[in-house]
Amino acid sequence: MKCPKCEREDFFSISRTRRIVESRGIATKNKSTGGNNSGYNNYKGNWKQEITNLDKKMFLRCNACENQIEPSELEDISEVKIDKNKGVLFISETTSESPEINDKD
Ligand SMILES: [Zn+2]
Repeated sequence: MKCPKCEREDFFSISRTRRIVESRGIATKNKSTGGNNSGYNNYKGNWKQEITNLDKKMFLRCNACENQIEPSELEDISEVKIDKNKGVLFISETTSESPEINDKD
């Protein structure tokens, strides 16, 4: 399968977004400037990781150009199903959505 944006073949991935909030305290008391809030309030320590937030939504991405790929951008594909254990199912436009077999003749 080829990327519709950069033409790279077989370089797809499933991605998810993780958001990290970090904080670093500041000293607002006992400053060398005399505590009148003129001048810099110094940092009290290093950055601390506070919240890690994983967005549950997974999406198809090209690892070469790093663009998110919508199913409609892929040739002959109408839907992309992402299963977190099994992998990715590409549903073709020509495949019937209905599992019923039309066997009347
Ligand atoms: Zn690409």
